[in-house]
Amino acid sequence: MSFFDTSLADVPGIGPRRADVLAKAGLNTAMDLVRHYPRRYLDRSTVSRVADLREDTGEATVVGTVKTSNLVGGKGRARFELMIEDGDGGRMKAVWFQGAQWIGRQFKKGDRIAFHGKVQKFGSSFSFTHPDFDKLGGEGAALDTGRIIPLYPGGAALDKVGLTSRAMRRLIYRLFKEHGLELPPDPFSQKVVDHYGLVDGRVALRAIHFPKSSEELEAATNRLKFEELFYLQLLLALTRQVRDDQPGVVLGKPGALTKRFLTEVLPFDLTGAQKQTLRDIVVDTQSGRQMNRLVQGDVGSGKTVVAVAAILQAVDNGFQGSFMAPTEILAEQHYANLTKYLEPLGLKVHLLVGGQRKKLREEILGELADGTAHVCVGTHALIEDNVEFQRLGMTVVDEQHRFGVMQRARMFDKGERPHMLLMTATPIPRSLAMTLYGDLDVSLMREMPKGRKPIETAVRMEKRRGEVYAFVKEQLREGGQAYVVYPLVEESEKLDLKDAESGFEELTELFRPYRVELVHGRMLAYEKEEAMQRFKDKEADILVATTVIEVGVDVPNASIMVIEHAERFGLSQLHQLRGRVGRGDRQSYCILMTDYKRSAEAVERLEAMARTNDGFEISEIDLKIRGAGDIFGTRQSGLPALKIANLTTDVELVGQAREAAFALVKSDPKLEHADHAGIRSAYNASYKGKGLGLLRVG
Ligand code: ADP
Ligand code: MG
Repeated sequence: MSFFDTSLADVPGIGPRRADVLAKAGLNTAMDLVRHYPRRYLDRSTVSRVADLREDTGEATVVGTVKTSNLVGGKGRARFELMIEDGDGGRMKAVWFQGAQWIGRQFKKGDRIAFHGKVQKFGSSFSFTHPDFDKLGGEGAALDTGRIIPLYPGGAALDKVGLTSRAMRRLIYRLFKEHGLELPPDPFSQKVVDHYGLVDGRVALRAIHFPKSSEELEAATNRLKFEELFYLQLLLALTRQVRDDQPGVVLGKPGALTKRFLTEVLPFDLTGAQKQTLRDIVVDTQSGRQMNRLVQGDVGSGKTVVAVAAILQAVDNGFQGSFMAPTEILAEQHYANLTKYLEPLGLKVHLLVGGQRKKLREEILGELADGTAHVCVGTHALIEDNVEFQRLGMTVVDEQHRFGVMQRARMFDKGERPHMLLMTATPIPRSLAMTLYGDLDVSLMREMPKGRKPIETAVRMEKRRGEVYAFVKEQLREGGQAYVVYPLVEESEKLDLKDAESGFEELTELFRPYRVELVHGRMLAYEKEEAMQRFKDKEADILVATTVIEVGVDVPNASIMVIEHAERFGLSQLHQLRGRVGRGDRQSYCILMTDYKRSAEAVERLEAMARTNDGFEISEIDLKIRGAGDIFGTRQSGLPALKIANLTTDVELVGQAREAAFALVKSDPKLEHADHAGIRSAYNASYKGKGLGLLRVG
């Protein structure tokens, strides 16, 4: 046991009170503290003088002394303003509109503060709005000597026990000074260190806190990012290894049923991308290992047909298939489609969702267990413990991005290990795919069925609503159908948004005698289903909906979609919604209704929608607009959070870390080698207590 395993309460100079507060911030051992990286650095090259700011400076850090502070305006509309002065007599303002009262208590005259944020110019003076800030103690002085000063993530609780940035820096400095030699040696082999040009792990840890130069800081950051990404990729490599170790069902080749489906039942030929994906599946299912394949194809690329063919390959070989969807509406719809496709082939298809009558449910479960039923479509209800198949050979999971990585690991873990075919219509940039889908094989379907006409998209302001409605009427007159989508279910006075219910009433009046239906998230499942069905059967011409129709809904005759308050939707959501039209022979349209009150980002999103129909391009634009943030964040994916690396910007490092981690697992699948003991214990330590027990090694 190294000193760095010592609990912080036992480290001299910390004491139980501070240790408590640190524990709440997730820091328990001395090692946790050295791995508590600075969130920002100050030195002469990163700090700006007010005199050097310009209108187009963008983000900047300014260190200044508080001259005056003012709480302006009354309760509810209060604003807090600081006037600060930098070392050269330059002055600027910092302003807060939110939390003004609380913020106001944080500063007093004479405080030295580092502000960080976007610089704006009003009249002749510069100002920060809601800047990030760090209070500097004696750090300010060091700045004048040209040192690089680390600033640590702070917070009221830490401040209260005196754990300011400055105190934290001293504490960490002492750990290195007194115990630096006891840090565990770099677990990476010389080969890896050389190959990826990494600095030594211990050197990097020290330099991330106390860099002697910006070059040294960069090398340390690079090394620690690599390390973090490496352990994440190792998690994926091991997940995969554990699965690959298990024998999978060996399926024979597709047989008579598959052939009849493709040639007699389907009224069209497969696209090249569909054929290629089916070939990938045939290879996987005969490898002796469990298939774990993700089909990544844009909305409308025809993933369902691929899934049905995969299920038929299983049935051809005496197995059953299951098809899981994230919502009941989607499950119902797939059930209807699969019944239509498979009954002519003499197969029995069931639907399993929550809330079914006990008797019906038991009947279905009975037929799955004794093999009378060939295929079962359903929601999460399908992976409940009491659902047993006689011989499940193929499981399809539609719209898989709705399920997180760890949820996926659990699905794979279920009993008999059928082949898994996962489908997603959310195109994501490659760097993210390597991580979020890092444990899967991927088939890309970048081709649309022939004869599709690209959807025409337009942005329209409120004042042109009359025109828009006239255009919708014209579409209806020509036999088409329309979606009108609203962002919220209930009326909210505050946001002044039209909600689906009042929109429904209004449109029913306006569009008489055309028939209007309504679906929203608050309706009961059967009500939604009936309304959808009436729209599908063309008993209704307009479907007013909230985003419940976002995924998968397939009504090829629908040719126009109007999205209300389009500025409120994210880019990938808009793209998913738009994918509900343009599914048949008709020229289709998407109209994005908006008004002038919208952010610059919203304008960019709407313009991107009008410019392109390509989901991959849209995902790249989304990435650019939202920048380095936690977009398809690891949070929602269920993966452990990253402290220093960034999946969207550290693209090259993700690739390198992946290569290194997969090579390691290939050479030593259980990390048993003595040479890998360091990596094994660091891996186990980084995921300790994160609920990843099933993937623990050693
Ligand atoms: P998604 O990939 O979004 O799930 P679907 O599987 O719902 O797409 O298919 C969209 C529509 O395209 C459906 O109406 C389907 O019948 C049709 N389709 C699928 N493949 C082809 C094809 N090869 N040629 C023509 N139409 C196709
Ligand atoms: Mg689909």
